Amino acid sequence: MNEHGVLAVISGFSGAGKGTLMKALLEKYDNYALSISATTRNPREGEVDGREYFFVTEDRFKEMMEQDALIEYAQYVNHYYGTPKEYVLSQMEQGKDVLLEIEIQGALKVKERFPEAILIFVMPPNAEELKRRLIGRGTESMDVINARLRRAVEEAEGMDSYDYILINDEISSCTEQLHKMIAVQHSRVSNN
Ligand code: 5GP
Repeated sequence: MNEHGVLAVISGFSGAGKGTLMKALLEKYDNYALSISATTRNPREGEVDGREYFFVTEDRFKEMMEQDALIEYAQYVNHYYGTPKEYVLSQMEQGKDVLLEIEIQGALKVKERFPEAILIFVMPPNAEELKRRLIGRGTESMDVINARLRRAVEEAEGMDSYDYILINDEISSCTEQLHKMIAVQHSRVSNN
């Protein structure tokens, strides 16, 4: 492969099922690489350092910011989250389409820096389902769930900056739709 890969930014309400969708893409197709973010939040039960996130201290995070080691970063409900640069750029150079599961402020920064990135916003089928998925995960307190729901409403206002809005009602058809959106962008960019 000598083509450059594209950046596919996936955002959406916490609990919309983004993680499941990306896992399905990675299992089904071999042209994807998943970016692993750095975060200052604590690991949830079952999360492993270097798999879901690089869990770092605030000091370490600030050091990464100062060293320009992040493509973008943002604050989300009292914690920092950022995308390490080196892995993403090297995977794109190897022709991989790199998946970034990040929130809206970061998504907009990526678009500024990489105008050919594709931005996709994933929605749960309805608000009840969103709350059910958030609570059902059982990992956050009601305070945090409510803060995340408030943030979801704020994020909805920025949805029109995205290239696509995808309703996650059924996982396998959504995975296919997502794959097609990214494949179209990949061929657009590599034909230019
Ligand atoms: P969670 O704590 O549920 O894993 O993530 C909270 C939010 O942070 C989600 O909207 C997730 O997409 C976002 N996020 C995760 N990693 C990054 C990142 O590297 N940069 C930005 N801007 N947001 C991120």
